[in-house]
Amino acid sequence: MQNQMKFPKAKTKKKRKTHKKSILHPKDGTCYLCIRLHNDYRYHSVLHEHHIFGGPNRSASEAEGLKAYLCPAHHEFGPEAVHNNISNMRLLQQDAQKAYEKTHTRQEFMDLIGWNYLDEEKGAEQDV
Ligand SMILES: [Zn+2]
Ligand SMILES: [Zn+2]
Repeated sequence: MQNQMKFPKAKTKKKRKTHKKSILHPKDGTCYLCIRLHNDYRYHSVLHEHHIFGGPNRSASEAEGLKAYLCPAHHEFGPEAVHNNISNMRLLQQDAQKAYEKTHTRQEFMDLIGWNYLDEEKGAEQDV
């Protein structure tokens, strides 16, 4: 027998890069948190695309549209920025989970992200 190649069929992961739009809001120049926190629908010339579930879940965020368009002040550079403000980060994560669960089950969300953000009474702690 020569050179038998292995074809691990079970491992055919979807590696195709899909750029899905945010399932939270349209990319129309508004900032998700300006609206969410201040009801401010102002147009921003610069918006950052923030992956709501980062780290190992970044690609899942990308593939499923678990992203938000944020002005720089709400992304990285201010007291309300998600990368500075844990409660705003959590707000986005909860909103994203709710949006995802409009078309998926809770189990599917947990399989995808590995965490449930909508049931925090038990003092759940997670570093982000
Ligand atoms: Zn903003
Ligand atoms: Zn970000």
